[in-house]
Amino acid sequence: MALRIYNTLTRKIEEFKPYNPNEVKMYTCGPTVYHYAHIGNLRSYIMEDVLEKSLTFLGYNVDRAMNITDVGHLSSDSDSGEDKMLKGAKREHKSVMEIAKFYTDAFIKDCQRLNISIPKKLVPATSCIDQYIQIVSKLLNDGFAYISGGNVYFDVSKLTDYYVLTNHTADNMVNAVREGVEEDEHKKNQNDFVLWFTKSKFEDQELKWDSPWGLGYPGWHIECSGISMKYLGEYLDIHCGGVDNIFPHHTNEIAQSESYLGHKWCKYWFHVQHLNTENGKMSKSAGGFTTIDSLIDGGYNPLAYRLFCLQSHYRNPLVFSKETFEIAINSYNKLKTKTSKLINISSGEVDKDEFEKYKQKFALALENDLNTSMAITVLHDVLKDGNINDTTKQKLVMAFDTVLGLDLLKKEQVDLDKNTKDYINKKIAERLEAKANKDYKKADEIRAKLAEKGIVLKDTPNGTEFEIKR
Ligand code: AMP
Ligand code: ZN
Repeated sequence: MALRIYNTLTRKIEEFKPYNPNEVKMYTCGPTVYHYAHIGNLRSYIMEDVLEKSLTFLGYNVDRAMNITDVGHLSSDSDSGEDKMLKGAKREHKSVMEIAKFYTDAFIKDCQRLNISIPKKLVPATSCIDQYIQIVSKLLNDGFAYISGGNVYFDVSKLTDYYVLTNHTADNMVNAVREGVEEDEHKKNQNDFVLWFTKSKFEDQELKWDSPWGLGYPGWHIECSGISMKYLGEYLDIHCGGVDNIFPHHTNEIAQSESYLGHKWCKYWFHVQHLNTENGKMSKSAGGFTTIDSLIDGGYNPLAYRLFCLQSHYRNPLVFSKETFEIAINSYNKLKTKTSKLINISSGEVDKDEFEKYKQKFALALENDLNTSMAITVLHDVLKDGNINDTTKQKLVMAFDTVLGLDLLKKEQVDLDKNTKDYINKKIAERLEAKANKDYKKADEIRAKLAEKGIVLKDTPNGTEFEIKR
């Protein structure tokens, strides 16, 4: 079988046929770095990472780029509201560039802790201003854009199929955008979008560049088209993001890129459904979100969150709650216990037929619109198969983990994250205090709670020690 994947553009599961079969060009909308990424954002990045690793597993070479949005993204995705970066800078009494650096570093650290590979082409939006100016100039020349009230706008009425990605009618989408958003009197059509801001409503906008239209800065949508074309060329195979990016962001990317290029641009659109809390979508602007740091502070291994995401399909909404996450933590700990027995196997023959049979099953799961939960079932089947030897199992787990990224054959790091160490030591101290107060129930509860997280306490003559069994 070949890879079959859901394409938002056609609203169908299709066979994946890149423009050039030897190299897949893949683009991912990166984070807006005005705050920490929450675990919802990271669900999207985990699944996009699994997509890239699956493509590699299935034999493709992948050339991938991702932007870092450090300018131009306003509170509403349709060019109104406050500038998100400026808002972050004000909140923390820092400059926009300081905020961008801080949260870019935090994003990279989160990705490392979740085994998300960072694309080599990780491009801050502020580094490609010339590229945006070139695209906007051509769009103006060719009549796809106009200047009004000092800003340059894309004129959506110039396209017959502006809504190609959504299959929605113009009225529907206008209503969707209008909700909670003030109208921009300079636009000819409600869904026209800003390519370049000059007369910004933000007097204190820090970052501005010279352009043929005056001192200003790019709109959010043009960044992704510009970076993608600069780093991956005129023909893109697959473009990724969360479902909230479909409209208006990706719709606008298609409009401006194809008007600029004069031909079809991206073949496949891959969208990850949202992570929700019990009260609705997890979002940065709504606040109260969960970060990887807060999971670690709670004593959890971030890779249990990766497994949590892999256990459900990327096109299904996923609810994060204490209960649902705890199921994933238990599954992760059980998996690690099973695979830890394979870590030190160093002799024995690989049974090639069995290896190929299971590798094929795993590939089939991925080829089935990235069915990661089915892929994990194949992993479990390997681990419980009494007819294959440990060497074969070890090699299969190793191969599967190049996609799953769960550190299944990695010995627990001796050098624990400082936060985890602090957390465990705090709990040990609380337990000692409970014992000193003869509150053995509480002491036992603390021990049991840690054990649930794979942290086993041992009372020794030198005090309480701990061992991680993940
Ligand atoms: P942002 O940093 O806000 O630009 O978002 C980064 C990525 O996270 C984008 O691809 C969004 O579509 C995605 N995203 C935002 N909220 C969620 C959520 N609750 N669940 C999954 N993905 C999300
Ligand atoms: Zn984007």
